[in-house]
Amino acid sequence: MTDLTTAKQMLGELIGFPTISSDSNLDAIAYMAEVLGRAGARVEILRDESGQKANLWATIGPQDRDGGLVFSGHSDVVPVQGQDWSRDPFDMYEHDGRLYGRGSCDMKGFIACVLAMAPRLSETVGDRPFHFAFTHDEEVGCLGGRALVEELAKRPVRPALALIGEPTLMQVVDGHKGCCEYTVRFTGTGGHGSSPEAGVNAVEYATRYIGKLMQLRADLKARAPEGSPFDPPHTTINIGALHGGTTHNVIPSAAMLDWEMRPINDADQAFVKDAVAQFIAAEILPEMRRLSPQADVVTEVVGEVCGLLPMPENEIRDMVQHLTGANGASVVPFNTEAGLFQQLGMQAIICGPGSIEQAHKPDEFIEIDQMAQCLDLIGKLAVHHG
Ligand SMILES: [Zn+2]
Repeated sequence: MTDLTTAKQMLGELIGFPTISSDSNLDAIAYMAEVLGRAGARVEILRDESGQKANLWATIGPQDRDGGLVFSGHSDVVPVQGQDWSRDPFDMYEHDGRLYGRGSCDMKGFIACVLAMAPRLSETVGDRPFHFAFTHDEEVGCLGGRALVEELAKRPVRPALALIGEPTLMQVVDGHKGCCEYTVRFTGTGGHGSSPEAGVNAVEYATRYIGKLMQLRADLKARAPEGSPFDPPHTTINIGALHGGTTHNVIPSAAMLDWEMRPINDADQAFVKDAVAQFIAAEILPEMRRLSPQADVVTEVVGEVCGLLPMPENEIRDMVQHLTGANGASVVPFNTEAGLFQQLGMQAIICGPGSIEQAHKPDEFIEIDQMAQCLDLIGKLAVHHG
């Protein structure tokens, strides 16, 4: 069997596990563990608190050596409800050089390529190990990736490089913004609209908070570093939704605001978070509580996914560029687990088969030729890094 035949067959198996983020991924992880185990990897299955989800961490080669290369992918997929699929999304089918199925490009196609090449990696591995990080719950805020990186941080062994196989049409990507989502709940005191000062108007405080965010948005534009590769070049803030109040003549006692920030770096993220916390603690909350001690402003962190900051030094970027003949690396507008690995001190890139255009859509597919290119790259990495 050729590598491509094996990878296609494995992709069919992987798509057959309906690993929608809300459901268990244990069967899919068990399948990956079995394939890697057969190739001689030492495999760990790390379950989450619910026991229904797991990350997989596996190593081929020396267990106790630094400097390894991590192949990273998420096992979960987005739901298919409400989408108009031509066929069963969890039964892969081939048509016109494409493989169709939920997760085919995002990102089981990459995982299938890695699994198919595991025996080769086993043959070529030398001093520097190959690692495999297959996570749960990426699509709902990188929960698995975060747990895995926390676990790895406790260990003495330090992998050096990470290749995240999110779909980039096999282009080399070395940066993306982060994504932080917040829901803020304002609790005031209701009353009759004829005496506005007798209540604490939650909607008014929410709009003042929005005013603060808009002021910060202007500050962030001015903070954009020279030569920033991102589009737009600065950290952005978006007001997504504001709910509150019932009718004209009632003081609203509750309001809820959804907003997001896409930071280009940690410093901007801290700048905004500090400014907002300070604004609540020093300005609006004391004012609200003067009239009503129960008044409150509570911020829920829906998700904080860190970005991948392009770095001047990046061995895996240079290596993959050299091996694929790519000239230059770019940035992408979507989020990945790459920033988590960077926070752990690793050099990371995103490079994977298929296009993000097909991700999350009905009739998701991956071009078979993309998988062939990915297998080729892994084969070269096996020799080059091994
Ligand atoms: Zn993905």
